Order: sequence, then structure tokens, then C-alpha cells
Amino acid sequence: MPKAPAVIGNLFAAAMGRTARVLRTTTPAPGFVELTLDAPPPAGGWRPGHEVQFRVSPTLSRRYTVHTADGPHIEILAAVSSGGPGAAFVKALRPGDEVSALAAVHIPLRAPGTRRLHLGDDSALGTFAALVPATTGTGVAPRSPAALDTATLPTGTLDNGTLHSGAHDVGALRVGGMEARARAESGHVVVVEVPAAAVEPLAARWPAFRFLPANGAPGDTVQSWLESAALDDTSAARENASAALDETSATRENASAALADVDGALLLGHAQSIQRQRRALINRGLSRRVIATKPYWSTGREGL
Ligand SMILES: Cc1cc2nc3c(=O)[nH]c(=O)nc-3n(C[C@H](O)[C@H](O)[C@H](O)COP(=O)(O)OP(=O)(O)OC[C@H]3O[C@@H](n4cnc5c(N)ncnc54)[C@H](O)[C@@H]3O)c2cc1C
Repeated sequence: MPKAPAVIGNLFAAAMGRTARVLRTTTPAPGFVELTLDAPPPAGGWRPGHEVQFRVSPTLSRRYTVHTADGPHIEILAAVSSGGPGAAFVKALRPGDEVSALAAVHIPLRAPGTRRLHLGDDSALGTFAALVPATTGTGVAPRSPAALDTATLPTGTLDNGTLHSGAHDVGALRVGGMEARARAESGHVVVVEVPAAAVEPLAARWPAFRFLPANGAPGDTVQSWLESAALDDTSAARENASAALDETSATRENASAALADVDGALLLGHAQSIQRQRRALINRGLSRRVIATKPYWSTGREGL
């Protein structure tokens, strides 16, 4: 219900709404705002991956996803490059502000496969962070949103919440002198197209995710990455696809290897890109049944 008369919005707010207080806002990377909110939980409590609808004006609402939850404290990562009312609303929030948030009992996304491919854009990163924790355990004290103060952290600070359910971990790396487990043990692959300036700070925070710098139309970079994996190593088409990608270590790496034993896919974000990605995966031999999709926004459409 992205747009509704104010009276209908009031009815929904009365049934499913809660007043949430902003505890903190940060800019973890250019084009993103992260919110920490104190919000009375809905029935069943807040869960990572919980969908929330903010009333951004008396007649408009926009959906976002909780990536970290701890009692009444939740964190949300919002992409703010759309220029729409949702982005403007998020950017204007300050600690102490109160917002109207609608949420129902959490219904987990269908996420097929045990070694899953996650493809998406900036709008999907918070959901992927909820599903595939980037750091856990060793040497990194689990962070509770409740323990946060309202200060803005420096851009790129490694500051992951670790309160997710279903954590998997393998491998280890050193970040900021602390050892942090960084890979999903089950081998999940996460590929996210983001504004070029955001690649570095996001990669520092989610070292197990691959961040590709957006280049061209929405979804083009992920599509090139996907097609480079689908093509024969020696083919000219593969070279063309690789050339379309920016020359960063993340994008130069062999996508075929990353996808070798993927047994499911979750495609989120831009509707038209999801359709292309789905076709490419089916052409590559992945069964339709193990590809889950959820569009978060669509070209030329306001709210979804
Ligand atoms: C279930 C669900 C969960 C979601 N979770 C999150 C989340 O956790 N974090 C998050 O950032 N977003 C999330 N989204 C996406 C977010 O709701 C949309 O991006 C929303 O359209 C933004 O609203 P807006 O008012 O800023 O732009 P709109 O008024 O909706 O759109 C304005 C213009 O911008 C375009 N546009 C919309 N979104 C984007 C975008 N991300 N990038 C580029 N152009 C865009 C539209 O096509 C339109 O032309 C979620 C969406 C759904 C359906």
C-alpha cells in the first residue's frame, strides 16, 4: 500500500502500527543511511529480515527491511539514491525523531538452496545482511543496537551486528586487528551492485560479499558478471562481458568459480533486473523451482 488516502493509512496504523524512536543515523557508505530504532516489537518479536513499512507522509508509505534485531532495537539499511519521498524521509531523520512504522508477524523470505546465490542492488543489501551474516564470533564482540550511542560512526567502520539467526561461518580474516570470521560456511554467494563510491566501505564491512560498481543502467553490472560466469572461458562473448565490468579485483575474479556449486538463488531489488537475472540462471541450468525473487522497486514506478 505505497499510496493511500490518509484515513486508510490511519486505519492501518491503528491496526499494525507502532511509534518508533530514532536512536541513531549513520552514513556507512555514500548513498546509504543506516537507522537504529527503538520500536515496540510486533507479535512474535522483531527478526532479521522483518519487513517494515514507514509512513513517509500522510498518504505515502515505503517498505524497508530490518537487518539486525535485539528486543525493541532494530537496524535498517536504506539506499537513498532514488530521490523519492522514502529516501528524503530517511535522510531527514535525526536521533530523537519519532516515526510511524507498520509491521506484522515476521514471514521469512523463501530462500531455496544450501549454497545459495544472492543477487541484488543497494536496496537489497540490508536483507542479504540479515540472511547471510558477514562476521560472527572470534574476537569481535557481538554488538547490540541497544548498546549503541547516538554518535555517527566514521564511514567504513567495521561495525556489524551479529544478532542474526541462522549464522554460518567459515574462513577468517583480520580486520582492524581483530579476527573476524567472514565467510558463510555453507558457501552462500552474495553479489550486490552499488554506487562505485560505496564499494570500498561496504567491502570493508561485509568482506564476504562481492560489491560491483554500478555502471550503466540498473542491473547491467550484475548481469555482465552473471553472463561472464555463464559463458565459456575462451569465448569472445565472455571477453565482452568482462570488459563491461569495471577493472576492480572483485569484478575481475572468476564468476564461474563463484557459481560452480550454487544450488539455489534469491534475487531481490530492481524488478526488471531480476527478470534478466532469472533468465540467465535458467539458461545456465538452474531449475526455476530453486530461484526465489522479490522485486523491491521498478523503473518508473513509485513505491512497491
Ligand atoms: C518488501 C520490501 C523491502 C524493502 N527493503 C528495503 C531496504 O531494506 N532498504 C532499501 O533501501 N530499500 C528497500 N526496499 C526498496 C524501497 O522500498 C524502494 O526503493 C522505494 O521505492 C524507495 O522509495 P522512494 O520514495 O525513495 O522512491 P519511489 O518514490 O518509490 O521512486 C522514485 C523513483 O526512484 C526509482 N527508485 C526507487 N527505488 C530505487 C532504488 N533503490 N535505486 C534507484 N532507483 C530507485 C523509482 O523507479 C522511481 O523512478 C524494499 C522494498 C520492498 C518491497
